[in-house]
Amino acid sequence: MPNPKRRHSVSRRDKRRANWKLYIPTLSICPMCKEFKLPHFACFNCGYYNEEKVLKTKKEIEEERKRKGKS
Ligand SMILES: [Zn+2]
Repeated sequence: MPNPKRRHSVSRRDKRRANWKLYIPTLSICPMCKEFKLPHFACFNCGYYNEEKVLKTKKEIEEERKRKGKS
C-alpha cells in the first residue's frame, strides 16, 4: 500500500483546512413569479421552468388532498 513518506506539518494541515468557506449559492430570478430560484432548476415557488409548468407547488398538492378528502 502506498503511504506518505513523511508526516505533514501542522501548518500544512491548517492551510488545507483554511481553504473552505461559507458560500452563498448563486440565485437567478424566476420569470414567472419574480422569486429567487436556483439556476437550471424549476422554480420551487410556482413550479415553472422555461415558462412551462413542470412541478406541482405545495399549495396545489394540498388543494388536491383537500378535494380528495371531501369527495
Ligand atoms: Zn416562479
